[in-house]
Amino acid sequence: MSNLIELKDVVKYFDDSSSPVLKRVNLAIESGKFYTLLGASGSGKSTILSLISGLLAPSSGDILLNGCRINDIPAEKRPINTVFQDSSALFPHMNVFENVAFGLKIKKIAKAEITRRVREALAMVRLSEFENRPIDRLSGGQKQRVGIARAIVNEPEVLLLDEPLSALDLRLRREMQIELRELQKRLGITFIFVTHDQEEALTMSDEIFIMNEGEIVQSGTPSDIYDEPINHFVATFIGDSNIIDGVMLEDYLVEFVGKQFESVDGGMRKMEPVEVVIRPEDLIITTQNLGKITVTVQTQLYRGSDYEIRTTDELGNTWLIHSTRQAIVGEVVGLDFEPEAIHVMRFNETEADFDARIEEYVEEVETEIGLISEDLS
Ligand code: ADP
Ligand code: MG
Repeated sequence: MSNLIELKDVVKYFDDSSSPVLKRVNLAIESGKFYTLLGASGSGKSTILSLISGLLAPSSGDILLNGCRINDIPAEKRPINTVFQDSSALFPHMNVFENVAFGLKIKKIAKAEITRRVREALAMVRLSEFENRPIDRLSGGQKQRVGIARAIVNEPEVLLLDEPLSALDLRLRREMQIELRELQKRLGITFIFVTHDQEEALTMSDEIFIMNEGEIVQSGTPSDIYDEPINHFVATFIGDSNIIDGVMLEDYLVEFVGKQFESVDGGMRKMEPVEVVIRPEDLIITTQNLGKITVTVQTQLYRGSDYEIRTTDELGNTWLIHSTRQAIVGEVVGLDFEPEAIHVMRFNETEADFDARIEEYVEEVETEIGLISEDLS
């Protein structure tokens, strides 16, 4: 299937003396999905949006829309609109209706059609009752919704949202997250949403692009990325994790903390040094003799829904545990975990290498399963 938007080997310099702000970015956007660019401040997220919307031109590489190169198409001719973080772009002396209608009036669209489209857009963002309200008498969340209505009234194919929720307080942000997600489904258009908030990205997106220093380091569904981070950076950036050095003895057998464990990972060299990730919620506290690792409980923090428990093993490694059951500080306990909870990462593996390895591994497993079911029949 063809992609709606593609960036091909896009490099962006702001001035030729410095290093590039984007280093060969490749990404593909399909129609009708909710995408998120997730990265720390300064990683290049807004620059990518500006390249897609046409506010900036790439230094090299191509931007494609429905397979056609649009590098030279000006911003106003692209079927793309942007919603920015602050609502300062709204006209304070106009009411809600006038703000949303403004762009259409400039385009000299007939009055009846303007009225119809503005009302439709306001209904979409649940502001129908606020048509005549002056902008300065709206709450932060309502202003943000006017900003969104003003973008969707142009019926874009793609809506770019640059940290639209980061100025809102937590409760309102949660509400708007749900609203935005529902709005995207109702409209059926493509959203490219920018945030530096991992949880926001995980809960809202069909697909996430993780950015670091001008590069997309990993892309995939939230569960792909959470369950199979490709490297240390992604594993620590997304969620809490225990990361420990290990050695891949052979396929499906990994060693760490001086012990050998069954693993579900393969396709690496024998005796390859690796990093092992285990998520805190995958560690089960048990008795010392039933545990795979022995640890001492150091601290415990009640977090409302669970306890965050910090422990150390005999070698001095810290093991973070999220548990609904309480522990006792100072107690020596065992930690149990399933082979599936162990995720092995190679050093310096690129996303392409990682994808190829996983694909090969899945094929291998499928062949094995095929052989087993043949045996049974
Ligand atoms: P993000 O949105 O992820 O915070 P940006 O895309 O805004 O990051 O910026 C990426 C990098 O490019 C930053 O180091 C920033 O300082 C730099 N940058 C952004 N815009 C300009 C500009 N107009 N001129 C020079 N440098 C810029
Ligand atoms: Mg930004």
